[in-house]
Amino acid sequence: MSNRFRVEDLVVEWRHNARRKRNVGFVFQPGGHLLLDAPPRTRQSELEQMVREHIRWIRHRLRRAKDEMPEHPPLRIEDGALIPYLGSTLIVRWRSSPRAGAERSGKSLLVRCSRGDDVRDTVRQWYRQEGEELFSNLIAGWEHLPWLKRRQVDWRQRYMKSQWGSCSADGRICLNSHLLKVPEELVDYVVLHELCHLKHMDHSRRFHGLMDAHMPDWDRRRRALRRYLSVLLGD
Ligand SMILES: [Zn+2]
Repeated sequence: MSNRFRVEDLVVEWRHNARRKRNVGFVFQPGGHLLLDAPPRTRQSELEQMVREHIRWIRHRLRRAKDEMPEHPPLRIEDGALIPYLGSTLIVRWRSSPRAGAERSGKSLLVRCSRGDDVRDTVRQWYRQEGEELFSNLIAGWEHLPWLKRRQVDWRQRYMKSQWGSCSADGRICLNSHLLKVPEELVDYVVLHELCHLKHMDHSRRFHGLMDAHMPDWDRRRRALRRYLSVLLGD
């Protein structure tokens, strides 16, 4: 059972937890709510006092929890669905047509195909086309890296469910077509990560040294990418 009270504009939920001995637990929920887990017999007035005393810290932590909230992919790509695209969203507009294809127009993705059932496949094909262009541009942007000089990067893309990218022992890079759904700066982080594997196949200090040298904020991007893990499970 949970109870709630308000301090300024914050709505705080709380509950008694028989397993707590002394300290109140602060649970910062991804939706931006605070839940207090209190030892038995704690009074609501004590909790209100505690929230008032720590309100700045609480606001800070709630903002952070919100930033880390996962982005949820649409359950299914179909007419009218909002689909992610490079960190923003497009609305799918289907028009029946014997020739399948898709094109972006402002905040819409105009999808042509013969049956509503084919919208998903047409959109997935469109992401791949976009991927061909984006991935080759991003890889070209790193052609100055010394270990890539006079070397043709061997890459392809594929829809994968468990990783953003990979690099095989013989130097073939594979990029996840789902990357078209995350902000471009995060895609570039994945691209550089895989390109660095062409020099060091492991995640050693030397590997991270390369990342530091060429993308000083790579760790921030790596963490930001975590919000999008659910994208891998979408359509
Ligand atoms: Zn790696």
